[in-house]
Amino acid sequence: ERFDEIDLGEGLMQNIRRCKYSKPTPVQKHAIPIAVAGRDLMACAQTGSGKTAAFCFPIISTILKNGLNSGPGGTRTVAQPSALILSPTRELSCQIHEEAKKFAFKTGVRIVVAYGGASIQQQLGSSCKWAFCSIWLVAHLSGDVGLRLFNSVRFFFYGICCVVQLYNLEKGVDILVATPGRLADMIDRGRVSLKMIKHLALDEADRMLDMGFEPQIRKIVQQMGMPPPGQRQTMLFSATFPDEIQRLASDFLKDYIFLSV
Ligand code: AMP
Repeated sequence: ERFDEIDLGEGLMQNIRRCKYSKPTPVQKHAIPIAVAGRDLMACAQTGSGKTAAFCFPIISTILKNGLNSGPGGTRTVAQPSALILSPTRELSCQIHEEAKKFAFKTGVRIVVAYGGASIQQQLGSSCKWAFCSIWLVAHLSGDVGLRLFNSVRFFFYGICCVVQLYNLEKGVDILVATPGRLADMIDRGRVSLKMIKHLALDEADRMLDMGFEPQIRKIVQQMGMPPPGQRQTMLFSATFPDEIQRLASDFLKDYIFLSV
């Protein structure tokens, strides 16, 4: 009934204590030992059941045991994460990213949420929105010279965004959190390779299918290649289990345990 009864490693345990998780929720209690043992898993879990930790703890713990993928070494032009978490919406992906970062605090495990170039600009852009609006206004009021100044600032800003993105890729990624649509797009543009994926978590799988993401999910899994059983771990979390989910499970999971708590 306690997290320290499962061998998660000291770094992660410290963070679990820091998050003030004193005892596992039911889904965590059952899913974590199964996943730490490397088994595939399909679990029935609602929002608020603690499922984020249920798939993040085993992923982080295994990555720490097997060695980090990120860190210095070579120049990478594409990201090669060893774990992938797919979730239906950008908001949910950001939420998972925020939580996972707390669990991985000071462990060296690098977690990135798939935003891509445009959205790094958007992210930076939203915090600089007011500054930009004022510059734009002043530029327009002061005519030609002002406009040229405004454009210089804009290109400078764009340059910074590109450098930030390259820097992020070169530092490497251990865990990538993404929505299926965004990730499929990144694969098409050659920004990410899924050849090293050892853990795949599908969060709110029923919602992803409702949103029409099945083709993208299948394309993504295809990109990972088909390793011999036991080489890749897949965890599927869903609130409901219609036929489409059962089909997805029988296509993606191997010798899996079904958990209903
Ligand atoms: P989730 O279902 O993953 O979205 O989690 C719902 C909320 O429960 C989040 O705010 C978590 O931080 C919190 N939570 C998850 N597991 C535990 C736990 N074992 N003890 C206390 N809070 C938890």
